[in-house]
Amino acid sequence: MNHPVAVIGAGPFGLSTAAHLRARGVPVRVFGEPMVSWRDHMPEGMILKSTPAASSIDAPQAGHTLLDYCDAAGIPRLVTDEDIIPIETFIAYGEWFQQKLVPELERVRVVSVDRKGGRGASSASGGSGGFEGFELKLDSGELFTARAVVVATGLSGFAHLPPELAGAAADGPTPTGPVSHSSQNHDLTRFSGKELIVVGAGQSALETAALAAEAGAQVRVVSRGKGAVAFGAAPWQQPKLRPESPFGRAWSLWALSYYPQPYRYLPAQARHYLVRRVLGPLGAWWLRDRFEGKVTVREIDRIVGAGAPEGSPVLSVRTHGGLVEELSADHVIAATGYRVDLAAMDFLGHELRTELAVSRGTPKLGAGYRSSVPGLYFTGLPAAASYGPVMRFVCGTEFASPRLAKHLVAAHR
Ligand SMILES: Cc1cc2nc3c(=O)[nH]c(=O)nc-3n(C[C@H](O)[C@H](O)[C@H](O)COP(=O)(O)OP(=O)(O)OC[C@H]3O[C@@H](n4cnc5c(N)ncnc54)[C@H](O)[C@@H]3O)c2cc1C
Repeated sequence: MNHPVAVIGAGPFGLSTAAHLRARGVPVRVFGEPMVSWRDHMPEGMILKSTPAASSIDAPQAGHTLLDYCDAAGIPRLVTDEDIIPIETFIAYGEWFQQKLVPELERVRVVSVDRKGGRGASSASGGSGGFEGFELKLDSGELFTARAVVVATGLSGFAHLPPELAGAAADGPTPTGPVSHSSQNHDLTRFSGKELIVVGAGQSALETAALAAEAGAQVRVVSRGKGAVAFGAAPWQQPKLRPESPFGRAWSLWALSYYPQPYRYLPAQARHYLVRRVLGPLGAWWLRDRFEGKVTVREIDRIVGAGAPEGSPVLSVRTHGGLVEELSADHVIAATGYRVDLAAMDFLGHELRTELAVSRGTPKLGAGYRSSVPGLYFTGLPAAASYGPVMRFVCGTEFASPRLAKHLVAAHR
């Protein structure tokens, strides 16, 4: 089949996969806005939590690491775990990677993907006998056929708002309403002089809170549990007797970083639990000084409800003493993360979505990141339930991209 492979997504995973496919001589068409999650859906002034060693986009040929970019751009080299990476540097690195390795990127959206010829068009065996590929529609109006499709749409569409906050966000979270999601707040200076509540205790919550406080807001972090707001150890304080991994020194992190292959054989409950908990809520070591003394922390048992009686949000919270209290502010930012749900991938045709084998809303993936629909692959965040928490991070491209490309080339020549 001479049709190209379609890669949907131009963040780190889409760009890395496309580079590996191109290096294997596969014709590809790549769609999306380069690095848009980083440019528009993360706060201005953010610093990456990952270290330089864990922040390169994997390429099939040498010369495309974050360090190579620093040298090419003539900026100070980011090498040790103590070197912090400003988001602007990482965005510029991603764009440089794209221009060098995926120059044919098409900045259009894919609006639909359907199996060409309908469901009966492929053998159920997983082979490609009778397989006619996929029909894609772009927002330019163009229709074309792809021999295989790689979904690398990352965080898009997965922002999660807990149901207990929904009462103050009747039409969903929005930056102009009482409640927004952290992904909707790129410019935090707009909260200058305002009272802000940030819900959550992960890096995103704590960094959003610190940046808003630095911009002149009065900020309270509301977090569930006791002692939930915590910061990681500085590189020089990490235990030396445990193996090194891109995320710190620990046996569990080492295994999950370098051996994600057996992950998909773990029981479903364990897989979903680890994706949520490993590398979960913990502020970066360098954030502590910018946070403590500048942001108030309110630890609660849980949020029981929310409303916006006069346009401003009011949270009803149950305290650790069992009382219900009300907390009000000018605005609430829910830094409550992302949940993969195939239903949110509305560009995937209804027939494809119902045909895909899923586990708790995530696609079940086999060897080489293939889904149960022959020719349809998923990488990045949607692959985390099958290949582990490392798929949530840029360094996951090192494991994922060469394997996905190898499988795709062998199965869909
Ligand atoms: C606040 C925050 C901080 C983070 N910090 C770090 C960190 O320090 N280190 C780290 O490793 N990871 C970090 N992450 C995780 C990081 O976002 C992911 O590792 C990475 O962005 C995933 O890359 P991706 O290519 O899968 O998706 P994304 O970067 O989300 O890119 C998605 C791409 O899909 C495209 N797209 C979506 N829908 C369509 C469509 N229908 N048609 C065409 N294109 C489409 C978009 O245009 C975009 O190009 C952070 C995440 C957040 C939210």
